Amino acid sequence: MGYIMNLLTDEFISTTNGKVSLKQLLTGDQHYDLQYGFDEVQLAVLQLLSSLTTVLLKPTMRELSSYLELGLTAAQYEKALKSIDVNSFDADHFMRSVSSDKREVSTDKIAKLVSGIECGSSKNASGLFSDMSRVEKTCPHCAPVLNYNLHMNIKGECFGPAGATGIRGGGSLTTLISGTTLKQTLLANTVAVDFFMNLRGISTANDDLMWSNPPCDNIYYGHQIGLMRGLFALAYHIGFNELNEPCVCDICGHASETTIREFSRLRYLGRYGGTKTGQEAGAKWWPHPYTPTTKTVDGEFPVCAKGEGWQSWQGLVSYVVGKNIEGKNVIPAPIVQQYTAMGYGHANLLVGGNIADQGSVVGRVYDLYAMPQHWDASLERVTKVIDAGLEIKELLVQALNKLFGVGYDKSFVIGIKQQTVDQYTANAHSIIQGLLVDINRSEAKILRQKALTSLQKEALTLYRQLMRKYQNELPIFKALVKGERILARVTKVTN
Ligand SMILES: [Zn+2]
Repeated sequence: MGYIMNLLTDEFISTTNGKVSLKQLLTGDQHYDLQYGFDEVQLAVLQLLSSLTTVLLKPTMRELSSYLELGLTAAQYEKALKSIDVNSFDADHFMRSVSSDKREVSTDKIAKLVSGIECGSSKNASGLFSDMSRVEKTCPHCAPVLNYNLHMNIKGECFGPAGATGIRGGGSLTTLISGTTLKQTLLANTVAVDFFMNLRGISTANDDLMWSNPPCDNIYYGHQIGLMRGLFALAYHIGFNELNEPCVCDICGHASETTIREFSRLRYLGRYGGTKTGQEAGAKWWPHPYTPTTKTVDGEFPVCAKGEGWQSWQGLVSYVVGKNIEGKNVIPAPIVQQYTAMGYGHANLLVGGNIADQGSVVGRVYDLYAMPQHWDASLERVTKVIDAGLEIKELLVQALNKLFGVGYDKSFVIGIKQQTVDQYTANAHSIIQGLLVDINRSEAKILRQKALTSLQKEALTLYRQLMRKYQNELPIFKALVKGERILARVTKVTN
């Protein structure tokens, strides 16, 4: 198919200033912003580029700090290129191992590689932004991005029984540091080799890229997987069918000489610790740098966004400092721990991922949160805002619980309750984001009072809408009146 592009040297990244290379992004003075048609692809590009930067630079914490402060020079980039096998990052090699067995490969439309619509044919896959028909063709620049997205972000079950769950567990949350520029963001999400090795407490691990040396065991033991191997861990052999016809790419919007409409896949036979089978066989969780995890008696698992009503603000504090939520101990993603350990006072946090419900996607989140200056020390202010949101949610639940026991069908009542609570958590989202933007300027006590006032108002508005709706159904209405008192309780801020 003629020219093969390389991910470390060629201009394949779509930005508001056209296509650029990783080198231009990291070493140039110009500011760029990513430009992709789907927000989940944009998130995957951030993950991919930071992982590529990690493999290229393999920095220590000290080196990474210096890059973050002084930038990276073109000469440093070129020098780093000489130290690695650049050919492994040619598009026809990158994350594309070749199967040696005789199993039949499956072919699918490339729409399946865009998270959020990968389950687009199932009945409750009502993607918020995307529908299947919007992704039919891609250019060769975007194919490696989609392949990466498949391996790191998409749930295996989206491919039915032939699906495989990758090293991140599939459908897990991503937390990234958001810098002031794209360059800063990529460097802030670059993993320091020494930090990661210390975190894992192991000194040796296989660091071969999987497409050069695929795993061949039944169980892929986490402690045997090194950082470089894990960042680009595979679960499928992937092939792209590149056609000699021009197109405008549905992913980046650029014109291309060639077109890719389909990809082929063949599942690896082994299991990672991110799957139940893998955990039970003692594979252990591989600490993916961008994944927050929970530790329970059953083991360690990636945090996933589950259910339609899930909102990222509800777990925000736990993603940053770790906090006990619902009896589970959440451990912040290594990349967040690393940033804190490097002593950076200020960062905003990106929280993203799919919200999967029974294998289909009913919503997506890709949120940016403002964090306070010296966030590690003054996280109390974020906590106060989030806690206010959760407290009001609890009062709303208590108020709605008055509906039980007035003689209506239980599932009918549960339905009313759930819908109202979900709506509150969704609406609270923008209120909380707005408050967090102000966080450096407001005193903790004032901030908490503001949070309580506006969130209580929001909850009351929803609750009173419900009262109006049922004003002619007396038993329900009476129960709601009782509940209103709970919700209207004036919450005085004492701390
Ligand atoms: Zn493209």
